[in-house]
Amino acid sequence: MEPVTALAQLLSGRRLFVLVGAGCSTESGIPDYRSSGITRPPLEHRAFVADPAVRRRYWSRSFAGWPRIARAQPNPAHRALAALERAGLAHGPVTQNVDGLHHAAGSLDVIELHGALREVVCLDCGAREGRDAVQDRIAALNPALRPSDGEVAPSRPDGDAAVVGTLSGDDASFAVPGCLRCGGVLKPAVVMFGDNVPKPLVEAAYARLDASDAVLVVGSSLTVFSGYRFAKRGAERGLPVAIVNRGPTRADPLAARTVDGMAGTVLPALAAALGAPGASADDP
Ligand code: NAD
Ligand code: ZN
Repeated sequence: MEPVTALAQLLSGRRLFVLVGAGCSTESGIPDYRSSGITRPPLEHRAFVADPAVRRRYWSRSFAGWPRIARAQPNPAHRALAALERAGLAHGPVTQNVDGLHHAAGSLDVIELHGALREVVCLDCGAREGRDAVQDRIAALNPALRPSDGEVAPSRPDGDAAVVGTLSGDDASFAVPGCLRCGGVLKPAVVMFGDNVPKPLVEAAYARLDASDAVLVVGSSLTVFSGYRFAKRGAERGLPVAIVNRGPTRADPLAARTVDGMAGTVLPALAAALGAPGASADDP
């Protein structure tokens, strides 16, 4: 039997809990960590909060990396998940991605476990500001940096990238914008390494899992515990766990079925097989 047919057979008639990782967005041009060959250690929350030099480095790299993320478009995998949700066959995705592409694809009830790069939050007063506005402020504060530099800079999934302008990320002359309300320290509204996913989000995701009949993992190695725990809990509840991922994942031993394939190919086929209208590009 075709892998997708077998997958559809397993999941048919069950409301899906969908857990998404970086592999869902690689076909939109945003690299995942594990296949991108980036060896630089992840950005640590504690260092970001404590060290102005770390923040300068982050924002100068993020200035270069943001245009690529902001330009990215959802791919057929994102659209298939939105179609499954619209058809009532799946809950809105619980995603580890910070790129906002589920919203762009039309998913309605998205849980962004690790936050979103489109927003920036003040660590001192909690004020929020759009990332695009901060991009403009960085450009105004640092006229020697050209935003077009970002178009060619190698990008990291979290928007971090090597700066190729005349200023380096470590250059003390890079000016970091502060909070418009209180002048405080700005941070992208994402969960950095060493920080925790906010408890209410985890609880909302568990509640969604408990209202589901199967777990579908899309494009995640599940190396990070914050994603893995949902596959584990699903298996503990006796729900079938299905995984669509290129390569192995930490939850393979728990899975009733794994499909090693491209999310952008497998998901539209799955959604169509499950009967979700609008799941593939040739659907009316
Ligand atoms: P990961 O990098 O650990 O795993 C991604 C998996 O997807 C890999 O096993 C890879 O082989 C697979 N994959 C790549 N392209 C695929 C495709 N087209 N179809 C199917 N599978 C594909 O990612 P993760 O598990 O999400 O953990 C990484 C962490 O980094 C997360 O915490 C996330 O917040 C963050 N992150 C976010 C983004 C984003 O927002 N797009 C990108 C990278 C990393
Ligand atoms: Zn503030």
